[in-house]
Amino acid sequence: MKRILRTSETHPLTWWLNEKEDVVWIKEYKKNGGYLAFEKALKTMQPVDIISIVQESGLKGRGGAGFPTGIKWSLMPKKSSFDVRYLLCNADEMEPGTYKDKFLMEKIPHQLIEGILISSLALNVSKSYIFLRCEYVQAERILKKAIFEATQYGYIGSNVLKSGLNFEIFLHSGAGRYICGEETALINSLEGKRANPKYKPPFPAYVGAWGKPTCINNVETLSNIPSIILHGTKWYKNLSKSIDSGTKMMGFSGKVKNPGLWELPFGITAREILEDYAGGMNNGLNLKAWQPGGASTELLTFKHIDLPMNFSTIQNAGSRLGTALAMAIDDTVNIVSLVRNIEEFFSRESCGWCTPCRDGLPWIVSILKSLEVHQGHENDMDILEELCCKLGPGKTFCAHAPGAVSPLKSAIKYFRSEFESGIKKTSIINISSI
Ligand code: SF4
Repeated sequence: MKRILRTSETHPLTWWLNEKEDVVWIKEYKKNGGYLAFEKALKTMQPVDIISIVQESGLKGRGGAGFPTGIKWSLMPKKSSFDVRYLLCNADEMEPGTYKDKFLMEKIPHQLIEGILISSLALNVSKSYIFLRCEYVQAERILKKAIFEATQYGYIGSNVLKSGLNFEIFLHSGAGRYICGEETALINSLEGKRANPKYKPPFPAYVGAWGKPTCINNVETLSNIPSIILHGTKWYKNLSKSIDSGTKMMGFSGKVKNPGLWELPFGITAREILEDYAGGMNNGLNLKAWQPGGASTELLTFKHIDLPMNFSTIQNAGSRLGTALAMAIDDTVNIVSLVRNIEEFFSRESCGWCTPCRDGLPWIVSILKSLEVHQGHENDMDILEELCCKLGPGKTFCAHAPGAVSPLKSAIKYFRSEFESGIKKTSIINISSI
């Protein structure tokens, strides 16, 4: 397994970590140059300059969708027309197999706070919220202390560093629903309402939290901002081996020798992550399939393992980079059981707002349960394929249902015989016996 040498030139997100990977509190963070980027932005840059640097850097959202951050920021209305506006940090990390935001918040909380402060400057925001997954109790404790430290050092509060500007950061723990990762559901939940996604338009950039312009960015996205401001866009782009700029928290879980999470350049191949960092599959096991970035991403097979990890390549192969925390599926795994487990999760986490998702996902689960015990009906494959279509993109109110059926659709594509072998033999009518 590769030994990782982290430096500020190569690992902008994680080079702050010490050998023991203890929390980097403000003293240590500042000693190594922390908050210099914020001071630079505050004292020498206009909001428009910050937005154009982020735009030029090519930074894409790290929550899974990969939307360019600078463009998202530029969609916010100009200050003169809207005085109250918000920045929401999406820390509701509930994608199965994904814990990169947890790691960043628990180890380097000030990097996120500095990213929020610079982004607040760019967006003319004075109040930001971190919407935290409720199970992240440790991250909550650490962030609370870090916000307190930043306030003590004068980075949060009134008249920050004598600039005349005020910044507040509020920590809000969610109530434990996967759908809160969807930005309009997150806004509803933050406002104390039921976490249903809202119809768009209007988009949150104009009508967001409490009806005010709101920008929503992921933890890892915001954590990238300080180094971009401090070291520039050329350096940031050159960190990558591919067309996507910078580095990304990537990982492999499943039955691999060394499951984990590493900051790696875009464009590294999935095989390199699996073999050089995760140590390969456990002895005696072979890779049968993998999901590139979370339970809602389509399955890929062994033949895709040499693909570079970047947004477009994985998309062209029929999946999504998602969170880039890949899950290895070994050759002892029954694909029907695996997919049933995934669909049970998504069925439970449906908000119930629209019928195809609310009723379709439990239907899928019940069919998969029958196939799992070889009690499936001869029509089951047709019904599953029809449900994949009826819950697909554009058929439901939000992307939950299309994401939920993605692993099923790809599993049928690559491992159809495993599903078909679950059809009860007596349910196939033998004409010659009549
Ligand atoms: S697709 Fe599912 S999660 Fe999304 S609004 Fe409809 S019921 Fe809710």
